[in-house]
Amino acid sequence: MVKVDDRNTTVNEARFESLLDTAADGIIVMDERGRMLVFNKICETMFGYSSEEAVGKPVNLIMPPEFSTDHDRYVRNYHRTGEKRIIGIGREVSGMHKDGTVFPLELSVGEAVTPEGRQYIGVLRDLRPRRAVEVRVSQLQAQVVHMTRLSAMDEMGAAMAHELNQPLTALLLYLQAVTRQIKNSHAEGQVPSEKVLGVLDKAVTEAERASHIVQRMRQMVEKRDPERATIDLREVVNEALDLSEFVAQSATVTIRRVYGPNPIWVDADATQIQQIVLNLLRNALEVAKESEERWVKVSIGSDDRSAVVSVTDSGPGFSEEVSRSLFKTFSTTKKSGMGLGLAISRAIAQNHGGDLMADSGGSGQGATFTLVLPVHRAAVDEG
Ligand code: ADP
Repeated sequence: MVKVDDRNTTVNEARFESLLDTAADGIIVMDERGRMLVFNKICETMFGYSSEEAVGKPVNLIMPPEFSTDHDRYVRNYHRTGEKRIIGIGREVSGMHKDGTVFPLELSVGEAVTPEGRQYIGVLRDLRPRRAVEVRVSQLQAQVVHMTRLSAMDEMGAAMAHELNQPLTALLLYLQAVTRQIKNSHAEGQVPSEKVLGVLDKAVTEAERASHIVQRMRQMVEKRDPERATIDLREVVNEALDLSEFVAQSATVTIRRVYGPNPIWVDADATQIQQIVLNLLRNALEVAKESEERWVKVSIGSDDRSAVVSVTDSGPGFSEEVSRSLFKTFSTTKKSGMGLGLAISRAIAQNHGGDLMADSGGSGQGATFTLVLPVHRAAVDEG
């Protein structure tokens, strides 16, 4: 009989041990005095102590000091009053790794009355992976909120452009009417002031420019299918520059345009190429305005195969580490950045058979972004 009992005990123990070792959670058994009797495999990884090191030691070993005093008080109180605060309830507590790292744990405790006295069984789950997922989810939510705001701004932009178009057209008509009247008065014998005519002429030009910008803005924010055409790259870049000029002026950044008089023909979707240039200008202006010299240089050039637009700024450039993730989606070093501009811009460039590259002249040397597009086929053939 004794032998059978012995065998049963051994079998039960083996089962118990294998259960402890295969459990996905940390399991600790503690006696009435708070000493650990069992410390399973997961606990070893979780806390950095081997089972040999932990068994026999007080459970305070794996708790941050401020918790361990509370814990001792709590156990004493429970023994005296029987008031349960955790047993059968479970809650979040802090654990401490051997290296001193404190981390959140979910702890549930059961109680067993054994011939050797009361024992407590604690089941522990490391909450850090769950926390990491929660942080990621909240970051993604913030990005979605930001994107929604951006698309709302797109709509606002479209609405504003629509609203501005009417007064601008009216302004143009009024200016033209005044110019006509002044010229007519000349016919009636009065000498029109050249100065006034000059000013009116300038006013008409500015109003036309504003109206053109509004039109481009409307095209930019309209959702539409891409349209390829043979376009002069200088014109596209100029339009993007006109749109950015307001920002540059308010940031007192000088934009230098370095390009020749001849058209540079490419087969591309003008709005998409403008989007790339606008993204590059936005980034460049942002860093240039914080720099001492405050300039952005835009150059355009071509050879018989490729057309190249470079945007260089007087900003601080970027580090080797940043350069590795510049074009990855959602990679940003800005507080409210989306990290989408460059990723989208490169995708557009590559869709056009070109590419977008970045170069930093080293610390404090500014950044250069280079957009390369294949030149129009006929231009190649003619050349
Ligand atoms: P976002 O502007 O939302 O951050 P981008 O994709 O446009 O997204 O840019 C990604 C990152 O590339 C920026 O956060 C910044 O770190 C870096 N970057 C872009 N342009 C420049 C520049 N001209 N100078 C230095 N760093 C830049």
